Amino acid sequence: MSIFDTPELHAFRQQVRSFLQQNLEDDLVQTTRGNLHLKRPDMARWQAILNERGWGAPHWPESAGGPGWNELQRYIFEEESAFADTPPGDVLGLFLAGPMIIAEGSDEQKARYLPKILAGEEFWCQGFSEPNAGSDLASLKTIATQDGDSWIINGQKTWLSSGHYADLMFCLARTSSDGKPQQGLTQFIIDMKTPGISLQPILTMDEGHSVNAVFFDNVRVPRNNVIGELNKGWTYAKELLARERVNNAQAPRTKRDIIEIDRLARTLFGPQGAPLIEDARVQRRLASLTMDFVALESALLNVLAQQMRGEEPGPAASTLKIRGSELQQRVSETAMSLLGHAGIVLSSDYGGGLLAQEGQGWAERHLFRRVVTIYAGSNEIQKAIIAKSILDM
Ligand SMILES: Cc1cc2nc3c(=O)[nH]c(=O)nc-3n(C[C@H](O)[C@H](O)[C@H](O)COP(=O)(O)OP(=O)(O)OC[C@H]3O[C@@H](n4cnc5c(N)ncnc54)[C@H](O)[C@@H]3O)c2cc1C
Repeated sequence: MSIFDTPELHAFRQQVRSFLQQNLEDDLVQTTRGNLHLKRPDMARWQAILNERGWGAPHWPESAGGPGWNELQRYIFEEESAFADTPPGDVLGLFLAGPMIIAEGSDEQKARYLPKILAGEEFWCQGFSEPNAGSDLASLKTIATQDGDSWIINGQKTWLSSGHYADLMFCLARTSSDGKPQQGLTQFIIDMKTPGISLQPILTMDEGHSVNAVFFDNVRVPRNNVIGELNKGWTYAKELLARERVNNAQAPRTKRDIIEIDRLARTLFGPQGAPLIEDARVQRRLASLTMDFVALESALLNVLAQQMRGEEPGPAASTLKIRGSELQQRVSETAMSLLGHAGIVLSSDYGGGLLAQEGQGWAERHLFRRVVTIYAGSNEIQKAIIAKSILDM
């Protein structure tokens, strides 16, 4: 029997399912299925609908506007949303900036920023990485200097996801050079319209624009835009990255993808005219993906149970990130193999036909998923964390 098999959770799942059936319009579903990088208005539209129902941020505490669900309800909600192909929402605001402000922000910051994240009215980006500070984030060079009631920021960030349409950035900058490099870092909230900020798009190999380089030239930030305590930014960043890694396991969306691959294997025919699912190699691959998914999901449910007891995931966040990201890559690789030639065509170049229709979006996903083993701390770095903290190496 699964932990989801209780009358209460069955009723909850039904409630979520009927809400999605009644409120999720078909054009949003088609846009989500066919496009890797969604446009802000589509994400904002769905976020506003969820917020109206009180479901804008399932993982936030009730005091901050969350629905008061436990971890299992949250998981069910995410699973049903993935199956229904809802737009994913502003991950950077909902999963990173929001929880950091809830934990460390001032009352004024909570009142100013949280309602707009919930309503889908403001979007965020994350200014951590720099050209020479990725894995070695603490060596970052962007500097904040105090000037009366403001801080003046100079430097450069890179790989900023969503930076071109975000309203706000949470940014890690150096405020002191005393002590270890980790000790002199502070988290700032920066309005992206502040004079002195310029952006350059970076195109990724899926031919999409989702990341940017950003330059700060004497950018003035009010003093009350510091999150939490001065020089405590590294501690907040570590907590934030652990949350990001648990989220990066992406179990519900991966489950949806495996079901989709199973459907593809039953819809597409091999050279002998039989459905691909009848090929033993295809069956083996699907079985292997499914088994690894079940292992990932049960590890994730353990972490969720821990979180329900108020415990932090610790290095389990790294394990989830590694296994989840590798599985996402294998899933899209399998879809590409099933699609054959149609798999190597980008959506913009498609003509008509069944293969084209089935292949829509997979090539972009496959190319872009190269990143899932890199961002939020590369998998090599996650392995180093596990070696140090679990294996004591
Ligand atoms: C598409 C995309 C979106 C991103 N979005 C954001 C964002 O929104 N905000 C943000 O701040 N950052 C973002 N990032 C940056 C991301 O977090 C970094 O790319 C990542 O942390 C790796 O840093 P790096 O690129 O500088 O690589 P490096 O740190 O230079 O690493 C290069 C390679 O060396 C390996 N390596 C490095 N050090 C070690 C070590 N000690 N032991 C073993 N192997 C090691 C790494 O695993 C990697 O394979 C994004 C990146 C990409 C590609």
